[in-house]
Amino acid sequence: MNYSPTPPLLQQAADRAQRYLRDLPERHVAPLPTALEALKDFKRALPDSPTTPEAVLAELDEIGSPATVASGGPRYFGFVVGGSLPVTTAANWLAAAWDQNAAMRVLSPVAACLEEVTMGWLIELFGLPAGCGAGFVSGASQANFTALAAARHSILARQGWDVEARGLYGAPELKVVVSDEIHATVLKALSLLGLGRERLTRVPVDGQGRLRIDALPLLDASTLVCVQAGNVNTGSSDPFAEISTRAKAAGAWVHVDGAFGLWAAASPAKRGVVDGVGEADSWAVDAHKWLNTPYDGAIAFCRDPASMRAAMSLNAAYLMVSDEREPCHYVPELSRRARGVEIWAALRSLGRLGVAELIERSCRHASRLGEGLRSAGFTVLNEVVLNQVLVSFGDDEATRRVIAGIQEEGTLWCGGTVWQGHTAMRISVSSWATSDADAERCIAAIVAIARGLTAVH
Ligand SMILES: *Cc1c(COP(=O)(O)O)cnc(C)c1O
Repeated sequence: MNYSPTPPLLQQAADRAQRYLRDLPERHVAPLPTALEALKDFKRALPDSPTTPEAVLAELDEIGSPATVASGGPRYFGFVVGGSLPVTTAANWLAAAWDQNAAMRVLSPVAACLEEVTMGWLIELFGLPAGCGAGFVSGASQANFTALAAARHSILARQGWDVEARGLYGAPELKVVVSDEIHATVLKALSLLGLGRERLTRVPVDGQGRLRIDALPLLDASTLVCVQAGNVNTGSSDPFAEISTRAKAAGAWVHVDGAFGLWAAASPAKRGVVDGVGEADSWAVDAHKWLNTPYDGAIAFCRDPASMRAAMSLNAAYLMVSDEREPCHYVPELSRRARGVEIWAALRSLGRLGVAELIERSCRHASRLGEGLRSAGFTVLNEVVLNQVLVSFGDDEATRRVIAGIQEEGTLWCGGTVWQGHTAMRISVSSWATSDADAERCIAAIVAIARGLTAVH
């Protein structure tokens, strides 16, 4: 079968996408039950004969679009989910047309170039050490994995052990120290790296989820310390400056999971929340959360690029790698999409001031939401230092009922959590699309739903 991507087909896709985006702000945020029911129409047997591209696109749009979650819209506050800046969606379309394999310079000079430019910009924006290595990966999960592989390499290499060659059989033991609130993806990365998700020293945290420095054990040169910028519940960050001072003195490695919280370092107003974060040895950060690029994109940084390369590089005669930075030497993948393109487009479009404004705007909305709900008589369980707000509507059962009521009503979407023993609703403001008016509209909707469902008022 001939595949001919004719302009009309791409134009149809653009028209359908534009219609989708036009309706996004006013649709029910969760898909309606009728849309979920209609997904059954996808469940057909594998067709014997071909269908036209136009018909395939129409089916995808007509059945698929209504069954999406409007997480790219202005009032989605679930998990930590950014939208897509329009320029990044557009850049993503063009890059899809390019269909570049970003593994190597020889396969895509433009992908390699944009990664290099973008990593330089990000290092500057976050205040990381000049000369850091960086790899462009799918998410903070993979960024944590990549950075921790570099850490494992470095700690063992210093003890004369080549872990890439010999594995962990008979290797000297690493001591892994984590904050008790460390994200599940760091534990998963540790388990994938053979370090075990339970062979850890967990350090207790304070009421905001920050590692308690008085409880940090003695560190030594075989210690890997995992901390975080931006707790998924409270938005709080660990005391990096003090941790890094102790780690440096001991020769330990500090890794920071900064999936969304590292973006605070790009804002003069919020930088204080992650004070000292640049003193660590490696970092993971998502682009698809707070930078608002399309899924998926994240970056792993490492103070010592040689450790990243040692952990991730590969060689084969046919690969034709150059002497310049080769993207595949810093990530687990060989073939992959050119995900640096959208990150470049976001930064090129926003500039330093635009990034800071985006971060500060989300934080302002989060503060306003917290304030509005507190003054309506509900309890905000955290100090709103970034973009995360935890709200209780009374007892656990009342809070659960309100969360379900909000999801069903459809003006906005929030999820739930349990924070230090209390059921809470999580509000994460991470989208460029949320406006002041959206924040006010959400406060009104939440208050009305909560008052209707709880006996408190
Ligand atoms: C979201 C998140 C992750 C995981 O990131 P993915 O992009 O989903 O892989 C890790 N750590 C923290 C703190 C997060 O918020």
